[in-house]
Amino acid sequence: MEQHQEELATIEALDAGAVYTLALKTHVGMSIQTFRYFAGWCDKIQGSTIPINQARPNRNLTLTRKEPIGVCGIVIPWNYPLMMLSWKTAACLAAGNTVVIKPAQVTPLTALKFAELTLKAGIPKGVINILPGSGSLVGQRLSDHPDVRKIGFTGSTEVGKHIMKSCALSNVKKVSLELGGKSPLIIFADCDLSKAVQMGMSSVFFNKGENCIAAGRLFIEDSIHDQFVQKVVEEVKKMKIGNPLDRDTNHGPQNHQAHLRKLIEYCQRGVKEGATLVCGGNQVPRPGFFFEPTVFTDVEDHMFIAKEESFGPVMVISRFADGDMDTVLSRANATEFGLASGVFTRDIGKALYVSDKLEAGTVFINTYNKTDVAAPFGGFKQSGFGKDLGEAALNEYLRVKTVTFEY
Ligand code: NAD
Repeated sequence: MEQHQEELATIEALDAGAVYTLALKTHVGMSIQTFRYFAGWCDKIQGSTIPINQARPNRNLTLTRKEPIGVCGIVIPWNYPLMMLSWKTAACLAAGNTVVIKPAQVTPLTALKFAELTLKAGIPKGVINILPGSGSLVGQRLSDHPDVRKIGFTGSTEVGKHIMKSCALSNVKKVSLELGGKSPLIIFADCDLSKAVQMGMSSVFFNKGENCIAAGRLFIEDSIHDQFVQKVVEEVKKMKIGNPLDRDTNHGPQNHQAHLRKLIEYCQRGVKEGATLVCGGNQVPRPGFFFEPTVFTDVEDHMFIAKEESFGPVMVISRFADGDMDTVLSRANATEFGLASGVFTRDIGKALYVSDKLEAGTVFINTYNKTDVAAPFGGFKQSGFGKDLGEAALNEYLRVKTVTFEY
């Protein structure tokens, strides 16, 4: 993958509309790091010895061994095709399993290139298998298959629920689900404002908003609200929308046409419900699936755009009264999603209190989008369960056997 990183990044730009420079650094770069990280785990998978106190005290020994599960199915979305594949496949292989990967129907190309590279690298045939195709046919067949013992899924909550049911009804497969999000980002007046603006931009517009941990809703403390919005709009105007292969582009086309249409409808709904459209909201008048970076303010809790994920470059801003920390926390938690969250403040005590109270699998403090191969990643509530990345991900692809001796 290192030797072919430019080619992989180019394919990702062509297939997913990923901006090349980001594809090289993140889509492909983090994929490589993920394989390096999990390769390090291959010879470090350990069990434990457990004192048990039964009929013959001190004459017993119980130990645990971690074993591979067998054939694992991996079903992934289209937003980071190679990276999602890598997060799951690397942990799955390090644990000693074989894998059948179903890429998203609209973005199968880097998965196929990856398979070709694994053969060149000497991985035996049959260890890594790619099955492109539709979810309803290929994905469904994998979830139902009696020889598959685990499904690692990333995608929407709706499909995740369906897969979980299929896994249970077929052969009680182990399953891990990384699902949708509507991650809150709370910005207090005592923050470093320029950093909050910079990170607030990235929390929404990174990878043209096709980012599962994207901040789905920003809560800005009243006294800095107008200043924050003004600075964000200045930054949005500087964004360079263009061909994803151009090196100076920082905002590329959306992944596919149906997604673009959904974004247009999402914004129309926001306007209809009375949110203020500060900028954007429509397709960019040029060929391709380009959508304008969009900012909404005056978004109230009952509105559709306050509750549902756009999965696109749409910043949804609500304000909260100065000092009213408990109300903003309960508003931030009033969602069935719980993937990520964020807080900006210079007050460490406040930051830790908020991180304690936020119901999300990840809390970013004075930063955003900082994922790392060594840190577990995954949601709470209807954002799913089971982790990608870190040691926790390895355990998703292992089963524990207990062995007891008497002597
Ligand atoms: P999706 O749920 O429509 O599809 C995901 C995958 O599931 C695709 O490969 C699809 O073909 C397959 N699929 C569809 N129906 C299936 C079925 N019946 N059985 C088995 N497989 C089936 O999601 P999407 O539109 O590709 O991706 C967008 C969603 O993914 C968003 O909600 C986003 O938040 C979520 N996502 C979550 C994370 C995370 O880590 N939590 C990361 C990226 C994306």
